[in-house]
Amino acid sequence: MFPFDGSRTPARAELMFLKRIRHAHRSLLILSMIIFCFQVTARSCALTAPDQLFYESRPAMGTSFEIYLYAPNRERASELFEDAFDEIERVEVALSNYRSSSELSRINANAADAPVITDREVFALLARALDYSQRTDGAFDITLGKLMKAWGFFRGAGHYPSAEELASAREQTGWQNVRLDNRTRSVYFLKRGIELDLGGIGKGYALDRVTALLREAGVKAALISSGSSSIYAVGAPPGKAGWPVRISDPLDHTRTLSTISLRDQSLSTSGSYEKFFRLNGRTYCHIMDPRTGRPVEGMLQTTVIAPEATDSDALSTAVFVMGPQQSARLLDKIAGAAAVFVTDRSGVERIEEIHWPNNQAPQVKTENR
Ligand code: ADP
Ligand code: MG
Repeated sequence: MFPFDGSRTPARAELMFLKRIRHAHRSLLILSMIIFCFQVTARSCALTAPDQLFYESRPAMGTSFEIYLYAPNRERASELFEDAFDEIERVEVALSNYRSSSELSRINANAADAPVITDREVFALLARALDYSQRTDGAFDITLGKLMKAWGFFRGAGHYPSAEELASAREQTGWQNVRLDNRTRSVYFLKRGIELDLGGIGKGYALDRVTALLREAGVKAALISSGSSSIYAVGAPPGKAGWPVRISDPLDHTRTLSTISLRDQSLSTSGSYEKFFRLNGRTYCHIMDPRTGRPVEGMLQTTVIAPEATDSDALSTAVFVMGPQQSARLLDKIAGAAAVFVTDRSGVERIEEIHWPNNQAPQVKTENR
């Protein structure tokens, strides 16, 4: 059923690492979403639009980026795809903590010794991420690199940390330890061992860069997704109000929570099923509660709509940590933001929404499982 299911050492005999369920579970969401889009757009295209719909997908940032766009012909579409995927690659080269040559790795390696001067783009993104830390009371925190490693989510196979490992990782996290100096455009860590991880915001940022590029090139309608993590809708298919996107129930992907029409908006989903391991009957997912240093429990899926993908990506991770109540206060202050939560407490699945468009309200239900 899962791509990997193995106990390795006697001490971890019950440890199962169930990784990248993306291709088994959340991909269903995207797939059905895309097929839906295709059906709707192909019909309208045939009737009214001179442009045709083109599609291309390429691996990047540990997932598969997909682009649907309307273009006058295959040649033009190929040029646009080439430029768009180059742009994603460029962002990955700068932000990946899996590449030792990235700008992010350079900052991680040196910013505790002395302020590291970085480029405008990386500086601006770090500032935006730290701003989210402030606005979420630290629920969103890009200094979780050491915690992700301690729990075995970095190149790892899932790992329950010892008390010492956990204490040490917690000691080396905390967004307050990052200082940005606008004047010199530099990054400085107040503590040794801090490690930035942009996994909760980087893919959304890449989508915004691609969106800007496609708009600049004159594209009027496109749907760009970073795997099933985030999606951005440029304009709408010809003759349509928006791009239809389906959000499914994480416990039963045949069930639709909501079908939403996106236009010049982004939608991001964070799920506990995305990367996780199970130990002694408990599930440990890849989204950390920075306040406890432990994976968030009791949350299955959060989906956030926001005007930009950088924001929806950061927010879907942040509200996953914060839960519906605390998130409502945050989302109230962000124009155009909406969210749907699927929680699972003591085997009871509950769906809650904040500012979700009325005509596309999720089936609000509470169900014993
Ligand atoms: P996905 O990678 O599927 O898009 P998310 O956008 O929710 O999922 O991001 C999860 C990733 O964000 C983790 O793999 C990790 O790199 C990072 N992360 C985990 N917890 C937090 C947190 N509390 N704040 C910021 N980033 C986090
Ligand atoms: Mg995110």
